[in-house]
Amino acid sequence: MGSTAVVVGGGIGGLAAAIGLRRIGWEVTVVERASVLDDAGAGISLAANGLRALDELGVGDLVRGAARGQYNGGTRTPEGGWLARLDGAVLERAVGTPIMGIPRSTLHQLLRDFLPAGTLLTGVEAGPVQQTGPGTVRVDCGDTVLDADLVVAADGIGSRARSLLFPAYPGPDYSGSTVLRAITDQAVALRTDFELTWGQGAEFGHIAFQDGRVEWHAVLNLPAGTRFDDPLAELRRRFDGWHDPIPALLRATRPGAVLHHDVNELRTPLPSYAVGRIALLGDAAHAMTPHLGQGACQALEDAVTLAAALAIEPTVEAALARYDAERRPRSQAVARAARQAGRMGQQLSAPLAVALRNTAMRLTPSRAAMRMILRHHDWAPPRLG
Ligand SMILES: Cc1cc2nc3c(=O)[nH]c(=O)nc-3n(C[C@H](O)[C@H](O)[C@H](O)COP(=O)(O)OP(=O)(O)OC[C@H]3O[C@@H](n4cnc5c(N)ncnc54)[C@H](O)[C@@H]3O)c2cc1C
Repeated sequence: MGSTAVVVGGGIGGLAAAIGLRRIGWEVTVVERASVLDDAGAGISLAANGLRALDELGVGDLVRGAARGQYNGGTRTPEGGWLARLDGAVLERAVGTPIMGIPRSTLHQLLRDFLPAGTLLTGVEAGPVQQTGPGTVRVDCGDTVLDADLVVAADGIGSRARSLLFPAYPGPDYSGSTVLRAITDQAVALRTDFELTWGQGAEFGHIAFQDGRVEWHAVLNLPAGTRFDDPLAELRRRFDGWHDPIPALLRATRPGAVLHHDVNELRTPLPSYAVGRIALLGDAAHAMTPHLGQGACQALEDAVTLAAALAIEPTVEAALARYDAERRPRSQAVARAARQAGRMGQQLSAPLAVALRNTAMRLTPSRAAMRMILRHHDWAPPRLG
């Protein structure tokens, strides 16, 4: 079997794929079009499945060491009443870890630093990817052409590789939600590690980091492309009267720190995550809404599964067929569940429906809620060595 790979995209998925491939002895080059890797995007929560994937890649302890366990929190109403509590210690007993919160820039840096110097080429944009022979795939990067035994397209939701491989695929859809988020400038004293608060077609949430700073996000039902001249002022207006610590988190944020993105997803499931010697991975294959906090965790699962398949199977084609068979059903099921969680959670806006949902949540036994969470979190990675 071949042993050189080009990974297109140096996001969480691409870096994790590169680490996995190196672990099974492959030579890897990652091409990333951005020249500065500031990895804007506030914070990220990692569930047991993502952390187990990181363990198998050899970086789990490093990531845990820089992250904060989300032990105490849950879902609230704008007035502050609890709809559901999630006890991280119970989750830890069930799957070995609570959800961990970490700044994206820290996670990204840890993954980058795990790769040898020279593996990641920044400021290099991949153009067309094509199979040039029975055993070779070529990535055209303008001035440079890279040949390899395998190409991993981890080039995100707008994947060019996906458009080339599946020209009839309709592409990303707007989910109906837009998200504003930031990390506070300084530590903020909080009673909880994480919260989600659901109003009518609006959500406000936070995750606390190890250093006491806090990531918050506000998700709103709005037409795609809506932007505000003064996002913080707009959020203060929209979340006026919502419970503590929401006003304090908005007060602790610099206006320039607020990021605003529309939430897009791949609503039409892709028919395959592999064509010949090209594999799609992460958001390029299954971009999902963030309502379950699973997009990056699924990309990490992809990375380990791909490396394990390549280590086991006799040919790259057989390995990619196995990768597709193992990853597509699960990641597409998680994507469907994330969409459904959004519809029943943040996106629900009719007052009667919100009241019914809230009553159902208050009545749901915590054990039943935990079972639903474990469906996604309790995943066992294949072994890499
Ligand atoms: C608001 C929000 C909150 C989220 N919260 C969570 C969470 O708590 N937990 C979780 O698990 N997931 C979360 N996610 C999902 C998660 O962020 C994504 O699923 C994950 O980052 C996808 O990683 P990726 O590497 O596949 O893609 P990306 O991060 O999009 O990386 C793709 C990379 O490819 C590069 N690229 C693109 N085209 C080219 C090219 N032609 N040549 C070279 N480079 C190229 C891009 O510059 C980029 O760096 C959230 C998403 C959103 C929107």
